[in-house]
Amino acid sequence: MGEIFPEWLKQRLPSPSEVARVGRMLEDLRLNTVCQSAACPNLGECFSAQTATLMILGHICTRHCSFCATDKGVPGEPDPAEPGAVAVAARRLKLKYMVITSPTRDDLPDGGAQHYANVIRAVTSENPGIKVEVLIPDFQGSEKALRTVLEASPTVIGHNIETVPRLYHTVRPGAIYSRSLEVLAKTKRLRPGTLTKSGIMLGLGEERQAVIEVMKDLLTAGCDIMTLGQYLRPSMNNIPVCRYIPPDEFEDYKRIAEKLGFKTVVSGPKVRSSYRAASACLQVAA
Ligand code: SF4
Repeated sequence: MGEIFPEWLKQRLPSPSEVARVGRMLEDLRLNTVCQSAACPNLGECFSAQTATLMILGHICTRHCSFCATDKGVPGEPDPAEPGAVAVAARRLKLKYMVITSPTRDDLPDGGAQHYANVIRAVTSENPGIKVEVLIPDFQGSEKALRTVLEASPTVIGHNIETVPRLYHTVRPGAIYSRSLEVLAKTKRLRPGTLTKSGIMLGLGEERQAVIEVMKDLLTAGCDIMTLGQYLRPSMNNIPVCRYIPPDEFEDYKRIAEKLGFKTVVSGPKVRSSYRAASACLQVAA
């Protein structure tokens, strides 16, 4: 029997025609979205609003995070035609703001950093005025790789902290908490004008005080935007949900994070790191 969602996670299905149209267009361009691979609950809303989080560098990850639906295994070579295809997708979707992410590619010498830079440059040169947010892996802490991405001038660098340090070994075994904080801190040191963003999932057994400590650590790393959302189990192969966090607790966390000093906080059961990303970024710029 499937998961029984609380009332606040049930949602009205959007117009299938619009969802199908965007899905077909992305398929034609042989592009993946994290929306589809992560079975995101907001897919319908986003596709209907003509936004999507594109996944570059294939759909196979070299890591094994227990919360994630992305395929695990040995990925193929990056597709040299992908930067152009992503730029075309941005044009066809008439995007003013684009979010790009990828699996973690520990198999590549630069972790895929040059490919990220090529995609950002293709998108911005093909779509003047577009803002690009890249949700990057930790590149195993490589400053050279991070510099390569930053030199392509993305508007926002996102790197998700995902959960509290105590749960890293079960939820994010291939990641290191301090290294993830360092990705955000280094971004601010190397390119202070770049906005930084990080997201956490709740409902995996984290303590309230531990979440607040993560907020403080992110602020120390100079993080501007924070997202908090409910972890949803993508399949029975993934780690189970410990608790469905009610909306008022998300509101409470939002108040705490804003009081601590984040420029923008997006917090709610349906929130994902790229959910309504454009408005979060514009709030900071406002
Ligand atoms: S590194 Fe990212 S894509 Fe890979 S398993 Fe973890 S969350 Fe999923």
